Amino acid sequence: MMIDRLKCSVEEGDLIMVFPAAIGIDAPVLYVVEYSPPETRYPRTDEVIVSYGRFSRTPREGFWYLDGPSVEYVPYDDDTMHPKDEELMTLKEVFEPFQIPSFGDNETIYTGFSYDINPIGRSVLHSYFRGVCPLCHNDVWYPDLNYDQPYPELFVTEIDQACPCCLGYECARNDANMLEELEELKNRLNTERHEVEQWEFDELVAEFLDLVQTRYTIQNYYKAFMGLDMWDIQDRVDRHRRVYVERRRPFSEEPEEQGDGS
Ligand SMILES: [Zn+2]
Repeated sequence: MMIDRLKCSVEEGDLIMVFPAAIGIDAPVLYVVEYSPPETRYPRTDEVIVSYGRFSRTPREGFWYLDGPSVEYVPYDDDTMHPKDEELMTLKEVFEPFQIPSFGDNETIYTGFSYDINPIGRSVLHSYFRGVCPLCHNDVWYPDLNYDQPYPELFVTEIDQACPCCLGYECARNDANMLEELEELKNRLNTERHEVEQWEFDELVAEFLDLVQTRYTIQNYYKAFMGLDMWDIQDRVDRHRRVYVERRRPFSEEPEEQGDGS
């Protein structure tokens, strides 16, 4: 069986991720469809014209980028997909070097590579970026306006902002709103600590810790979807309690206190 036709139709602007695993290259290569015969269900690979696809960790003209679950592209100003000098090739030319013929039943079987048409964000994160987010490296993301920060609206605090690349912009934007609320609650914890009745302060603490819990629960939802390690939510809540309510250090060299503060 030769792979001379694609398994489904493609159109201009589609992304094709090719996995040439069997020839010793274990990183997938990206191609962008420049032309495909219209209304062809299984287009011939020698009729599909492609160019190389490029990824950027943040939105950038002419590049693809990861927006959590989805994979997006930023067109050039004049709305064209690619520069005119882009090297074009047919998909057949792309596939050919990866094909390893084996002979049986008088038929040439091509194996040694596979491909994915319009991969989802999770596939790109795990296959193309080998499971490591190119923006936050699977750690917390510290928005920094001096460095490659195309999302000034996400710059609420310097800490722990959900990453717009691996968790997606929608998650990051919501997270920025919650961080704003948290900042306000932190300020109130400081100013109202000795000014209000104990029960009022306890309510404030509960509101604060609830929001901390909600924030990490939402992040975990996106992390699960993206196949990323999840937060230990109780640990995050405990650390926030230590630092902002009990005004202690966040880490565990201190003696544990059971059932405190609730
Ligand atoms: Zn990330």
